[in-house]
Amino acid sequence: MSLIQEQKVAIAAVRSAAQVCEAIRAQKTIQVVGKADASPVTVADLTAQAILCQAFASALPKDAIVAEESAHLLRQPNYAYLLQPVTDWVRSQVPQATSEQVCDWIDLGQGQVSDRFWTIDPIDGTKGFVRGDQYAIALALIESGQVQLGVLGCPALLLPGFPQGIIVSAIRGQGITMTCLQTGRSQPWITPTQRILRLAESVESGHGNPELQRRVAHQVGCVEPPLAMDSQAKYAAIVGGQAALYMRLPWVARPDYRENIWDHAAGSLLIEEAGGTVTDMQGQALNFGLGKQLLNNTGIIASLGIDHDRIITALHQGSIPLPDR
Ligand code: AMP
Ligand code: MG
Repeated sequence: MSLIQEQKVAIAAVRSAAQVCEAIRAQKTIQVVGKADASPVTVADLTAQAILCQAFASALPKDAIVAEESAHLLRQPNYAYLLQPVTDWVRSQVPQATSEQVCDWIDLGQGQVSDRFWTIDPIDGTKGFVRGDQYAIALALIESGQVQLGVLGCPALLLPGFPQGIIVSAIRGQGITMTCLQTGRSQPWITPTQRILRLAESVESGHGNPELQRRVAHQVGCVEPPLAMDSQAKYAAIVGGQAALYMRLPWVARPDYRENIWDHAAGSLLIEEAGGTVTDMQGQALNFGLGKQLLNNTGIIASLGIDHDRIITALHQGSIPLPDR
């Protein structure tokens, strides 16, 4: 299958998962369960992963998938209250699905990092999803440690010139495609006429180092108040001209934190295909082929329309003045 055909498969799968996620979010309550690592998971995360993995298993059965969620909880009898709604929601897209199949599809995401694999975050920004804010459905094809294809579904994102809900996707060397989530219609990306000179950062202050990020951003000319946004929707917002810089420096309490590959694979390719640069905080390229985490990279810096080297230099300059606001 060509990369363009694979992109079509991925976009269709993301549209299908996004429809269900939005339907789940329209319900009165979203049940949130804490995973072993204390991070949250919902019926929507598990449903979306089942739908995405099912689509890949049927179109690209030989490809390994490395995804964020597992069916470990769902397979336990005391979590039957979760498995039933997940199965029902999956059936809204795959009518004959059984609970067993749903668990098996979710666990297709337990594949190995290898020379060629897909990485999936069924709901990136679960906290944003639950809060009613931004989230993203993210998937990417990794070959030899490099992202070749990235697809980011952002159901709540509003970019100038587009209706709310957009899938931003890219193939390395072939540019960016914008797809309307509602209609499925695609068009090539065009450089926005204006770009807001501001920093994009996580809503969660513990997922970064906001003070240092803002100092560096100010130093390189990102003087507008920062854009706080959940998930990889930040990368899509930059592509859409809503910010020029995304920084994710390690939280002071977790200096050894390593980013998950599925949290940056799709988004980083979008920035590169838009003409920008993505590195770690030392200015090194990201290596997606070493494991589930970016084991050789600390922090993330993504820029579009700013001299990337200036950002790295400013970051390592030492005492950077605080922005004046
Ligand atoms: P964001 O909304 O940009 O903060 O991205 C959400 C992602 O942050 C989640 O998918 C987590 O994998 C990731 N995350 C969790 N804890 C941390 C941390 N201490 N530092 C950086 N990222 C984190
Ligand atoms: Mg995530």
